[in-house]
Amino acid sequence: MSGIFSKIIAGEIPCYKVHEDENCFAFLDINPNAVGHTLCVTKKEVDKIFDLSEEDYSQLMQFSRKVALAMGKAIPCKRVGMSVIGLEVPHVHVHLIPLQAMEDATFQKKVSLSPEEFQATAAKIQACL
Ligand code: 5GP
Repeated sequence: MSGIFSKIIAGEIPCYKVHEDENCFAFLDINPNAVGHTLCVTKKEVDKIFDLSEEDYSQLMQFSRKVALAMGKAIPCKRVGMSVIGLEVPHVHVHLIPLQAMEDATFQKKVSLSPEEFQATAAKIQACL
């Protein structure tokens, strides 16, 4: 059975999509640490990042870098941070988080956004890709 991120990639569950290529898919985290918090996921449903093949791992990192560079232009922040956790959703994903302070990287402080704010944020990042 497909997991939640595979359902998002297939369009069976809605998301605020940021970018997609042949191997990877990026969308806004629904419970963001900061405005612009984006998840870059592999289209292959693999649980742990270091179980990816070298090729799949490199493709995910190149894809994440492209999205992060666009986020750095689109979202006011000191820098874009990157985390890999995976304790909640067992499908490889990179968290890209616009950082103003260390607490933005802790997953303790959350921000809530309206659907319109999510949509506008995704569009801003897309415009910088
Ligand atoms: P992790 O597995 O890395 O610990 O965390 C999973 C992340 O996925 C969390 O930050 C959570 O907010 C996000 N997430 C979980 N379910 C959904 C969902 O259905 N849609 C979106 N956009 N994000 C989700």
